[in-house]
Amino acid sequence: MVPPVLRKKRAPAPMWKYIEVTVVDGQRVLSCAAPLCTQYKGKSDNASRAKEHLLECAAARALHPDIRADVIGIPVRVGGTGAGGAGLHGSTGAEILPPLPPYVLNDWEQRFAMLIFGCGLPFSVFHSPEWRSMFLVISGGRFSGRGDPRTVGGARLDAASGEVMAHVEAAVRGADTAAVTVDGAGDVNGKSTYNVMVCLPKPLLLGSFRMGLTVSSAPNLLLSFRASLPASLLYP
Ligand SMILES: [Zn+2]
Repeated sequence: MVPPVLRKKRAPAPMWKYIEVTVVDGQRVLSCAAPLCTQYKGKSDNASRAKEHLLECAAARALHPDIRADVIGIPVRVGGTGAGGAGLHGSTGAEILPPLPPYVLNDWEQRFAMLIFGCGLPFSVFHSPEWRSMFLVISGGRFSGRGDPRTVGGARLDAASGEVMAHVEAAVRGADTAAVTVDGAGDVNGKSTYNVMVCLPKPLLLGSFRMGLTVSSAPNLLLSFRASLPASLLYP
């Protein structure tokens, strides 16, 4: 039997049910279709941003409780009918669970900041749809790993970096020998940054420093290097 020829034309992605598209001066302009939504109106034609918004929009979720599942392509499980829908329409078998209580969400977000910071993951993963959909599937549609690097900035990142640094210091203290290296790199503003690495032999980032206007002579580098080390390591 000859297999049917695959049709090229695909149905529009589910997200477009929840986005209004208008054309202003020849440009497509996107808005969240939820009337009470004030955050996503008249935005530029960026499907990923629109999708990210729909996953977070409380106004849209109030109208369509299953919107997150629909948008990321998880078949919606209707009313607790047993073992999910594995196999159905290529389903993942994931089910959509009730929202997380705020204190649990807070804990998940802090762990997420730890994951990013402690494992040296690039912040660009926040913008990856694959990353977000993976988190949504394993969390039952309740957590997308946060959609923006700013959501793990500030206090969350301080707590995460403090915890990671405590691990690093403990590892350095416990080591018999360690090799320390300093290497220069440019940051996004074109300023040079000196990263201080310690090898136990497992390499760990111990700190970093900048010289600013100071001349990068050997004595100056040594002073900045000493200043960048955790005080607890300098004065045991
Ligand atoms: Zn919205």
